[in-house]
Amino acid sequence: MCHALLAPREARRLVCPVCRQRWKAVRPPWCQRCGQPEPHFGPCRLCVEWPAAFSSVRSAVWLDENARPAVHALKYAGLPRIADDLAAAMTKLQSPADGASVLIPIPLAKKRLRERGYNQSEMLARALARQWRIPVLVDLVARTRETPTQTALTPATRLANVAGAFEVRNVKCGMRNFAFQLSTFELILVDDVFTTGATLAEAARALEQAGATRIEGVTFARAVIPDFT
Ligand SMILES: [Zn+2]
Ligand SMILES: [Zn+2]
Repeated sequence: MCHALLAPREARRLVCPVCRQRWKAVRPPWCQRCGQPEPHFGPCRLCVEWPAAFSSVRSAVWLDENARPAVHALKYAGLPRIADDLAAAMTKLQSPADGASVLIPIPLAKKRLRERGYNQSEMLARALARQWRIPVLVDLVARTRETPTQTALTPATRLANVAGAFEVRNVKCGMRNFAFQLSTFELILVDDVFTTGATLAEAARALEQAGATRIEGVTFARAVIPDFT
């Protein structure tokens, strides 16, 4: 985010190669399920209460001073086109199953969507969909209520904070035997930032209750939780 001029062959990009190389990739060893660095003692506490169908989440980069401006641009600076840069960093996180995978962006509450004019997770999902050549299902999951900003909450309070915040709108899809249909797909939830995974887990819970059996998640960035091990 240095405002460097980009070469014409990178016309679709907004972030220059130097800034992109400063993004610090999230690397193993990590918890196989939530992708968080392994705790020093005992099993991972972060994903212990996740719904059974929610099997893995991976994030591309750490949310540090180098990646934060890109997330900020996607979210607040009205630069949805930057989603292509962020998605490019995410393409190696998953190898979607052939013909049976769909991307599902974490929805915004109506009010926030009106204020921002777009859903940043949907922009990311659409950019990923172009690279992975799989469909995006935008209206399947809806946010039923506004959730308070999560910045200062512990993992446990975050989970309570988002409880019941999502519902699956199967009526609109017009599919017969919807639960069965849902169980035949690998559903990949998409969000911009992973903090404790509470939001993703809650959306996964709604999908599981609607019949989904295979749910994964990908995010561009992962926040560092300093006191969490
Ligand atoms: Zn730059
Ligand atoms: Zn875990």
